[in-house]
Amino acid sequence: MKVTLVGAGPGDMGLLTLKGAERIKSADVVLYDRFVSEEIRALIPETAEKIDVGKSAGNHPVPQETINLLLLEKAEQGLNVVRLKGGDPFVFGRGGEELELLAEKGIPFEVIPGVTSAIAGAAYAGIPVTHRDFASSLHIVTGHAKNNGPSGVNYEALVQAKGTLLFLMGVSAADEICAGCLAAGMDGDTPAAIVENATTNLQRRFIGTVRSLPLITRENNVISPSLIIIGEVCRLSARYDWFSDKPLAGKRVLVVRTKPGTSKLSDRLRESGCHVTEMPAAKIRPITAPGCPLEKAIQSIDQYSWLVFTSGTGVQLFFDYLIERGFDIRRLHHLKVACVGAATEREVNKRGIHAAYRPAAFNGAALARGLAETVEKREKLLIARAKDGAEDLPRILTEAGLCFDDVAIYEKTLPDVSVTAGQEDFAAFTSSSAVEWFAEASGAIDFQGVKAVCIGERTASTARSFGMEVHISAESTIESMVNKIEELNCDGD
Ligand code: SAH
Repeated sequence: MKVTLVGAGPGDMGLLTLKGAERIKSADVVLYDRFVSEEIRALIPETAEKIDVGKSAGNHPVPQETINLLLLEKAEQGLNVVRLKGGDPFVFGRGGEELELLAEKGIPFEVIPGVTSAIAGAAYAGIPVTHRDFASSLHIVTGHAKNNGPSGVNYEALVQAKGTLLFLMGVSAADEICAGCLAAGMDGDTPAAIVENATTNLQRRFIGTVRSLPLITRENNVISPSLIIIGEVCRLSARYDWFSDKPLAGKRVLVVRTKPGTSKLSDRLRESGCHVTEMPAAKIRPITAPGCPLEKAIQSIDQYSWLVFTSGTGVQLFFDYLIERGFDIRRLHHLKVACVGAATEREVNKRGIHAAYRPAAFNGAALARGLAETVEKREKLLIARAKDGAEDLPRILTEAGLCFDDVAIYEKTLPDVSVTAGQEDFAAFTSSSAVEWFAEASGAIDFQGVKAVCIGERTASTARSFGMEVHISAESTIESMVNKIEELNCDGD
């Protein structure tokens, strides 16, 4: 039983400490803030409880007192509690406040510092916070006072110190901050910068002077989280900006996953400067326990004439089930197989079976209509598919007067992320099942607007069947996919 305050760093996953990552991976419960990236949250074990204290009902953050009590309550239950906070937990992170109650109650805790956005944000904008020629001190200041009262910043002292000023929580107070510096005697031409979403691939940086910064901030709609930097060191940004000249800087790519774990493609795209959104793989739960509907269907397999599959996963789970139960596969010899979708057919073919029927279009309705024409009335169908699959299939078969059993052999849960293809510049697919999964999870959207970058002809033809704008990488490799996106990006500029 312990509470660990972990600094998650400013956004770039690589800036999380090794120790922080270790603690996250072994947590029983994690309370996290809104500035903690999705990539870092992905390290939280599946089994751990995840509590988003950045927002609750009505999008308001959970009150500080409630967080303090939650930490105590979870620790008292004997759990390993991780409190994950953006940047460093003690730099305007209320880390101190959160330890108070724990200290009082004698709960053991530890603090794992993080890379603060104040310093890393400047570094990613090409600004060294100190430099012997320009600044011999740095001052990290909040632009936002407790309970929205007067900020109480001593601008005179700050200006006299002639160091680098780093303002956090200051976007909405940019006017006040710059005016404060000017009123305290700072030269209006003093270089200043604002860095939005620093260290992430959504980073934007703007350089001006303490006089021009408020207008620059407004004109460019700079939003939180942003860091304001004021001081001579900002002059160096033009020369030292190493981060924003990556080939795909500012581009957004959707990477559709069909397997859990990390994606090499996402990693490579991030290296090239893309903001990557991953559509996670579906969660699959086989329905194969003793007494399951599949068991009953298999016991009377002889009554069926057709075996119908609608997904590659369905094919895999069906045959895995038979093999695990020691079922002699030759007992299926009388069955004709129907399937829909390229990935489904591939799984069928892999098992040495040819499909007797597959529709040209990749959807359940086309399959049902085709079967209605193909299957004879005395023939019974066994449909092995996901629970709550599309209703078109059973409805059309019933209307056609066909006899069938619709057997749920697995349950598929959609990931709880809302991925909107419309926001993305490109969608990347490394298999045709990824295209099918994307279509299924997206529901009824207009696929024409999707710029699909596909790993090969097979994937491309699936994407075409949904009406997407299709581009194919020259070779079937991750590197070639990235090159293709870079090429398309240059063409679009
Ligand atoms: N403990 C955090 C700061 C929390 S206060 C740290 O050490 O970084 C939240 C403020 O931090 C934001 O309003 C913003 O000013 C700054 N901030 C956090 N992440 C940032 C990012 N990626 N880019 C720019 N500023 C960031």
